[in-house]
Parts: sequence; C-alpha cells; structure tokens
Amino acid sequence: MFPLIKNIPKFRTALLSWYDAEQRPLPWRTTPSLYRTVVSEFMLQQTQVKTALPYFDQWMHQFPDFDTLAKADIELVLKYWEGLGYYNRARNLHKLAKAIIQLDEPPKTPEQWKLLPGIGDYTSAAITSIAQNYPAAVVDGNVVRVLARISNENKCFSSNGQAVEFFRATAESLLDPIRPGDANQAIMELGATVCVKAATNCPTCPVQSFCSSYKSGDPKSLPNIVRPKRTKVFIDRAIIIKENSILLHKIPSNAKRLSDHFELPNFEAFNINLDAQNESVRKHSIKRRSISNQSIVETLYKINSPLAETVTQTVTQTVEEPTQQEAYWVDLKSINSILLSGPHKRWIEELKEEV
Ligand code: SF4
Repeated sequence: MFPLIKNIPKFRTALLSWYDAEQRPLPWRTTPSLYRTVVSEFMLQQTQVKTALPYFDQWMHQFPDFDTLAKADIELVLKYWEGLGYYNRARNLHKLAKAIIQLDEPPKTPEQWKLLPGIGDYTSAAITSIAQNYPAAVVDGNVVRVLARISNENKCFSSNGQAVEFFRATAESLLDPIRPGDANQAIMELGATVCVKAATNCPTCPVQSFCSSYKSGDPKSLPNIVRPKRTKVFIDRAIIIKENSILLHKIPSNAKRLSDHFELPNFEAFNINLDAQNESVRKHSIKRRSISNQSIVETLYKINSPLAETVTQTVTQTVEEPTQQEAYWVDLKSINSILLSGPHKRWIEELKEEV
C-alpha cells in the first residue's frame, strides 16, 4: 500500500488529466491496435522513444500485422531491426507472431500472454492494460523513479529488479481501474518527460502536491539503487580492404548474441597475432561504447599488403564451402544488403568514404 497518498482517486485524476493534455503524440498511441502496442513494447525495451520511432514506422510499412510478420523470413525481420540492438527481441517478436496466428484469438490476461515467446511481467502488463484495458500495473525504471520520489523512499536496492518488486504493490494500488492503460502510460510518461533521471521538473509536475521528496527530500537522489560496476572490455579488429571489397566475419547462427550478423574481424576470434610495429599495420581509430555493464574499447587496425594476404588466408580457409566459412569478402556497395550491428554499420560507412 501507499500510505502517503490519502486521496488516491484525486491522484489518479491529476495524473490522467495531465496525460490527456500533455502526452506525446506517438504513432502507437495515435493509431492504436493490439499489434502496434505489441511491436512498440518490444522496441521500447532497452531503447528510447526517439530511437525507436523511425524503426517503428518502417516496421509497420513492411510488417503491418501479425500475419505478415509471422510469414516473413527471419533475415528480413532482423534487417528491419538492424541498429536497434538486443536482437533477441526481434527473434522473439517473430516467434510471438507465429504463435499468435495459430490461436483462435489473442490471449487476454497477463498470465496467458506470459506463455508466449519474449513476454515477461512488464510486457504482459503493458500489452493487456494498453490494448485490452486489463487492470495490470506496469513497473519499469520510470515508474520506480516516480514512486520512489513521491514516497521519498530512500531504501537502498541491490538491483533494478529488487526495486521493481518493492514498488509493484504500490503501482497496483495507484492504478486507475477504469483506464488502466492510460494510467500506466501516464506514470511512465511522467518519468520519461518530467520526473527524469538526472533532473526533475517539479514546478510543472501534475502530482507535485502528493510528492514527499519534493516537500522535504532530495528527489534527484532517488531511487537509491546500487549500480553494478562496469567491466572494461578491449577488442582489436582488422580492416582489410581489397579493391572495393572488405573482409568481414560472420557470427555463427548458434551464437548467443548477434547471430548471423557480420562484423569487422576480431583478432582474438581469428587468432591473429599482429606486431603493431609491422609496417603493414596502422592503427586506424579507437571506438568506445557501453552495453549493459560493459565499457567496450575497440581498436581498429588497417592492415595492408603484404600482411593483409597472410591474414586473409588465415581467416578464409574454406572458400570452396561458402556455408562453412566464417569470413567473407563483401562488396562495399552491397553493405546494406547484409546484417550488421549498429556500430559496425557506422564504421563501415565511414570506411567507404575513405576508399
Ligand atoms: S514533484 Fe518532482 S520529484 Fe515529485 S514526482 Fe513530480 S517531478 Fe518527480
């Protein structure tokens, strides 16, 4: 329960009135449907709205309904996901579409949805409340932040998951039973646009009068969640270009991450031992990025002749059996027709400018 809010109906009205007036006109809201809600919820896991928007439009154009998506090749599905990251979401969405078209009607409760691929607590509550008006409360990072600040709860949580579980009953008690989907979207919208991570915009907040941390606390310090330490990962990669083709490594189909994607060859994966002093090797650039709890530093080396030929022989030993080989020469002009993760696509686009 949420003892600090005495008048819960008033809280719900304040939040929903604000949402009705201020919500962002997102495409899955302006033209709602069960399918559009499902796709948006898959895309928005781990991804910001502004990043997902262009993908959503292209996706709807190519795969307008469950049926079209279910019948599409997985390669095409992954191509339309290219650059969004966390590709298991696309694979699961594809599997989900295949499962749904087998049913007489879509599932109706969170428990039924959770039997399908890629659907967990958050997604099932979001889909059923938004598209099916089912009274299930969603609890994500935005909701946790808003509730921690409103309640001025400074308990130290060891993980996001622990904080989510802690606030679940609170979220359920505050959920408007008549408009659960809008109520869920309203509190998430508040967390995304007003009660934001690094700052707060309390003067414009519709629930300011209910907020304990605004009255007597330090909203920006909440929620208090221990952040896991980031580990640093160093990767060396080879750039080998011959005429207008580039040598790329294809990640095996059974890999846990980025299966079937192409990338610049990784020295370690190919057992390439290079002497950085070798005249054929030139450090090209250093790329830094973060994924989950990893800080990744990737150094790209341009490898020229004669060393390029030696490395090429090492990595393309089974040319006569193309399905077996791990490295391929790819024409730079056809780079858009193969699967590439976002960073590799950007890097290769940059390299094209230099050729
Ligand atoms: S008053 Fe400020 S801290 Fe409280 S919920 Fe609103 S924006 Fe967040």
